Amino acid sequence: MIDFELTDEQRLIRETAREFADREIVPVARENDRNEHFDLELVKKLGDMGYLGPIVAEEYGGRGLDYRTYALIVEEVGRGDSSARTVVSVQTSLVCSSIQRWGSEEQKHEWLPRLCSGEILGCFGLTEPDTGSDAANLKTRAEKTGDGWRISGQKQWISMGNFAKVALVFAQTDPEQRHRGLAAFLVPTDSPGFSSSAIHGKLGLRAADTAELSLDGVEVGDEALLGRVGDGFKVAMSALDSGRYSVAAGCVGICQGCVDASVEYSKDRMQFDRPIASFQLVQQMIADMVVDAEAARALVWRAGWLKDTGKPNTTETSIAKLFATEAAVRSANTAIQVHGGSGYVDDYPVERYLRDARVTTLYEGTSQIQKLIIGRAATGINAMA
Ligand SMILES: Cc1cc2nc3c(=O)[nH]c(=O)nc-3n(C[C@H](O)[C@H](O)[C@H](O)COP(=O)(O)OP(=O)(O)OC[C@H]3O[C@@H](n4cnc5c(N)ncnc54)[C@H](O)[C@@H]3O)c2cc1C
Repeated sequence: MIDFELTDEQRLIRETAREFADREIVPVARENDRNEHFDLELVKKLGDMGYLGPIVAEEYGGRGLDYRTYALIVEEVGRGDSSARTVVSVQTSLVCSSIQRWGSEEQKHEWLPRLCSGEILGCFGLTEPDTGSDAANLKTRAEKTGDGWRISGQKQWISMGNFAKVALVFAQTDPEQRHRGLAAFLVPTDSPGFSSSAIHGKLGLRAADTAELSLDGVEVGDEALLGRVGDGFKVAMSALDSGRYSVAAGCVGICQGCVDASVEYSKDRMQFDRPIASFQLVQQMIADMVVDAEAARALVWRAGWLKDTGKPNTTETSIAKLFATEAAVRSANTAIQVHGGSGYVDDYPVERYLRDARVTTLYEGTSQIQKLIIGRAATGINAMA
């Protein structure tokens, strides 16, 4: 039976994350956004708090927390700033959880402690210029050499790609095998032939680093292979199961931030000699946001409970991701309406919430892809085949 009652430890962790977000993230979010500044000082603080791998086992440098507790942290960081939340999500869910699940003991000891502490950053290189939603159709090639692999190809839209010391790169070893030919590699980004360039001009997530990666005959040893040859697609999908959960939890934070900002503003703002919070149409907007926040949180917590109890959760994670991301876009748009003209400038967080929320319905599987996953579970028919 699902039990949503938080333990004393979970309450304390949530309270600590809330205070951390208000003290360290909220005050710098606007300037970082304006300046497109990837804030390495803040990354260090996230690492010091243990937020860059909280679900990793303690023996590898993580905090050994369960998924439900992880969501409490991600929600608070996401309420503060989605660019900071992206660091937590990519590092923890896409990179660390992949290494923890698929890595050898050597790989876990080599990479996880430094990733969890924030000493180094990792990135997740799946998407390519010609390959987005159809992730099985990668063009990046890995060819066997004597004692390793030579990797060539391009990766597009890679979060933290300009700062990462290790890139989890997905490549095709045998095109005839389609997704069964894919393999995952842990590639040090200082390898000869590896280069990155920054992507500018984003609508939101301006304080998050986004890169294009180029691999030009990058040589790695056999020990760089994560899992076995042919496991690449499974590695990617298991990473996305965790990543989508993290994105959804961050969007709960956006939804809650919209409620908090709108309640405060509407009680202060006077029109017609009354606070605008006293108008029914304004309360309706606030009620819609409250319902979105509560429903998104419940779906995330359910997915977390399934993960923590070892039950299948891919569909439920997609449901949580689809609902929470769309709810975040909706809520941010409504929150701007509550703020009137003031919502249109960055004196308040709500316009940034809208710009930042917008990407969450695109990455880690678009909303359409989540619907196809949910539809596949409902009908037994795979529309993506
Ligand atoms: C800021 C940012 C950060 C990112 N970070 C990372 C990262 O760290 N690592 C990484 O690997 N990737 C990353 N991505 C890439 C992201 O995951 C992709 O953009 C996403 O998967 C969609 O792929 P695409 O952009 O190629 O769109 P496309 O796949 O070309 O889709 C375009 C449209 O077609 C629709 N569509 C496609 N196929 C179908 C279908 N079968 N049925 C119905 N509709 C369909 C889509 O839903 C969408 O509306 C990032 C993207 C952004 C913008």
